[in-house]
Amino acid sequence: MSAKHVYFFGGKAAEDTGLDAKGQKELLGGKGANLAEMCRIGIPVPPGFTITTEVCAAYYEQGKKIPEAAVPAIEEALKKVEAAFGGRKLGDPADPLLVSVRSGAALSMPGMMNTILNLGLTDASVEGLAKKTDNPRFAYDSYRRLIDMFGSTAMGCEHEKFEHEIHEMKAQKGAKLDTDLSADDLKELVKRYKAVYKKHVKDDFPQDPKKQLFLAVNAVFNSWNGNKAIEYRRIERITGLKGTAVNVQAMVFGNMGNSSGTGVAFTRDPNTGENVFYGDYLINAQGEDVVAGIRTPEPIAQLNDEMPKVYEQLVGIRSTLEKHYKEMQDIEFTVQDGVLYMLQTRSGKRTGTAAVRIAVEMAKEKLIDETTAVKRVAPDSLNHLLQPQLDPKSDIKAVAQGIAASPGGASGKVILTAEAAVEHAEKFPGEPILLVRKETSPEDVAGMDVAKGILTSTGGKASHAAVVARGWGKPCVVGCDEVKIDEAAQQITIAGHVVKVGEFVTINGTTGDVMIGKVPTIAPSMTADFATLMTWADRSRKIKIRTNADSPADSLKAREFGAEGIGLCRTEHMFFGKDRIAAFRRMILAEDDAAKTAARKEQGILSVFATGDYFATVEVEREIDFGGQKQTVKTVEPAITARERALAPLLGFQRADFIGIFEAMDGYPVTIRLLDPPLHEFLPQKDNVKGAEEVAKQIGVSVEQIFARVDELHEMNPMMGFRGCRLPLVFPEIGDMQVRAIIEAAIEVKKRGKSVLPEIMIPLVGVVEELSILKKRAIAVADACMKAAGVTVEYQIGTMIELPRACIAADKIAEEAEFFSFGTNDLTQMTFGFSRDDIKGFMPTYLKDKVLPIDPFQTIDFNGVGELMKIGIQKGRTSRTAKHGQHLKIGICGEHGGDPDSVVFCHKIGMDYVSCSPFRVPIARLAAAQAALGDTARDK
Ligand code: ADP
Ligand code: MG
Ligand code: MG
Repeated sequence: MSAKHVYFFGGKAAEDTGLDAKGQKELLGGKGANLAEMCRIGIPVPPGFTITTEVCAAYYEQGKKIPEAAVPAIEEALKKVEAAFGGRKLGDPADPLLVSVRSGAALSMPGMMNTILNLGLTDASVEGLAKKTDNPRFAYDSYRRLIDMFGSTAMGCEHEKFEHEIHEMKAQKGAKLDTDLSADDLKELVKRYKAVYKKHVKDDFPQDPKKQLFLAVNAVFNSWNGNKAIEYRRIERITGLKGTAVNVQAMVFGNMGNSSGTGVAFTRDPNTGENVFYGDYLINAQGEDVVAGIRTPEPIAQLNDEMPKVYEQLVGIRSTLEKHYKEMQDIEFTVQDGVLYMLQTRSGKRTGTAAVRIAVEMAKEKLIDETTAVKRVAPDSLNHLLQPQLDPKSDIKAVAQGIAASPGGASGKVILTAEAAVEHAEKFPGEPILLVRKETSPEDVAGMDVAKGILTSTGGKASHAAVVARGWGKPCVVGCDEVKIDEAAQQITIAGHVVKVGEFVTINGTTGDVMIGKVPTIAPSMTADFATLMTWADRSRKIKIRTNADSPADSLKAREFGAEGIGLCRTEHMFFGKDRIAAFRRMILAEDDAAKTAARKEQGILSVFATGDYFATVEVEREIDFGGQKQTVKTVEPAITARERALAPLLGFQRADFIGIFEAMDGYPVTIRLLDPPLHEFLPQKDNVKGAEEVAKQIGVSVEQIFARVDELHEMNPMMGFRGCRLPLVFPEIGDMQVRAIIEAAIEVKKRGKSVLPEIMIPLVGVVEELSILKKRAIAVADACMKAAGVTVEYQIGTMIELPRACIAADKIAEEAEFFSFGTNDLTQMTFGFSRDDIKGFMPTYLKDKVLPIDPFQTIDFNGVGELMKIGIQKGRTSRTAKHGQHLKIGICGEHGGDPDSVVFCHKIGMDYVSCSPFRVPIARLAAAQAALGDTARDK
């Protein structure tokens, strides 16, 4: 712990921590570090001090007590502030200094704790303030705000209780706006607020300013472990911070009349990234009035007309800050009587689109270099550019317009509360939700997280909803006052049209349009900046990025996004077409002819797909009943079995699919996995009699036959059952058919003059024998195909590594496998013993109680699954080199291949490539580049 507990800032100086920028942020929190930094570069900031995050950690270590040594340090720093700001004393009855108490951790956590403003006001000092400013209205308004903020934030008395009083008061006085209340009204209101306070806190509102201060400091520390903060950290995956700092700062007043005001702005447009000054302000307003959406603010450019001098100064500060931080800034300012004060600066949250544009433009402006630009953009934020947009050709017209707060289009079922949204998402996973609220607050983040889009009836561009949605790349429209919410009736009206909860509404976060119903979406279009950034990223990247694709269309899409091959082509997806599934089901239902199978085996006849000889014959011994007399006779029959006959049509389908995919991936490797899922997945289950009847009709069997087969195939634990390589080991003809389709397709494409690199991947191998048997057979099939065609093609045979045993026995397996591809979905499932479809019951608790830091199905579990992967890579590579003098190619094809943190891990452990879904290819390219560049700048 550093020796100092408290650091002062003010004037053109700030106490030195002796740390670099990162260390300062960790110690003073982002807000504190930047307030100090602004002082140092000559930007006007009201004086104050920061209590460090280490004090917060100590506070918790000592059972929620401010460490003793910190107390005098705080009192001393307070004296400095008093001296720096006109020598007034905190809460002095004659001429009080007032302060704000503000939280601030190393990473910004919007709304973790509400700031307490006007601290230091008491029954005595409020009079002093009234006299000194000659503005009793202002003084009493500040006092009642303090009681409200202090009561609700520090003492847990609901804000609504105070709101209720002001509503009553306004009704009583016939006042429309808060500002219509007179000084005497407000004085009366203070009394009522104090009564509310006393009733709920069971104590008087503290009249000792220092006591107020220390209680407030406690409250900030407590907020660090409040529900909102914990929830935010969970969603944003923030771990490893010491705690929050506390900033105590001299108050300046934006609510002292028409030459005062307050505002928030971004140094560039956070939606588009355009290099324009962007923000809002309000004249005669305090603190969060702009953000809270109580009054609708004015656009920042208008300040040029109202306060030209201040505007000019602000524009100067905008550029000073960007030059200093070399980053887009999100700033807060207040003007007191024509004098400008900066209250905050930090890197601005932005949409993915804006992030890309800002990074590229800043590099072009030479503010940063290209690699910094690459490091700047959080890979996941690209999602925003890759999001579908609303189809402009749709004829569903907007019925209302709000403020475009976070771009992209979203259609969803209207839900009115965050809790209901969370519940709905659990009950109906995948169903799109549109969260519609008057405004959102940090309590709502879990609901916002599950929503497709957010619509609010109040609030501006900097409102909570806007900021959070933008950060998450979710479409959002705010301030749409034509939306009226009626929770009791479970409905809303939009410009007079009634929409019930559960009905569809669409928002366009790019334009602010609100539409009733579901508007179709179209694929996004890539911008030039995006392409530029990707080119820069590719220059740094060391590992290749492939895609998971099962169709030519997906393959082409992925190529557009920069995929360098297919890492996983799931052949079972190809069986689901209408005619195909029938053939496949016939295959599953085909009865084995035991006598023929035995004869074939004895005579060394492989499947017809292996030989390519569909007219081969076999000599079968059959027992025939001649009128009661059984005799064994030898018959010559076609060698083809019923199962093979059923499979035959699929050969053509699969070959055609592979031809399409190989052509799309011209010159790039294509890894094709042989059939993997358990067979029962292809049959209607027993509760689905109607489905079974249809299937029965389609393939000409009875429902009983189907259900009998379903019974046979039934497994207690299908994930660990008859699947993967176990299928072709028992039914070799399935594997043979697939290998034949692959090789014939490769031959065909090669004939067309393209280069093909098929990689045949055998799933779920645990022991090398599984692989060696199937490999031998695959080679026989491939040889037969090539011989028949008179064309040779290069191909490889490898395996998926998805069982712990495969990792441990990787040396053996690598003697046979020409490549490894980690199937981390199954590997995670098998390593943890978590069925990946059944984690719902415990995973939320696991994450909440920190049993696990993250869901291992989302990000690789580095310490467990990751260790197994390292073993697999190490053993596999060593053995392959020793035995064959070859480099063993290794990749990953689980969902993790598109998760940025997992991509970084894959880079570190020396993989050759990662494979992910087409839309995540750019994300993986960027993550891979950042991995190669080390140290990413994702601390926004
Ligand atoms: P948040 O972390 O939620 O942004 P802040 O600590 O920035 O909270 O406080 C919110 C707002 O309160 C600021 O934007 C500013 O308008 C107001 N505020 C905070 N401190 C002061 C101060 N010393 N003087 C005037 N206004 C202040
Ligand atoms: Mg706030
Ligand atoms: Mg702020």
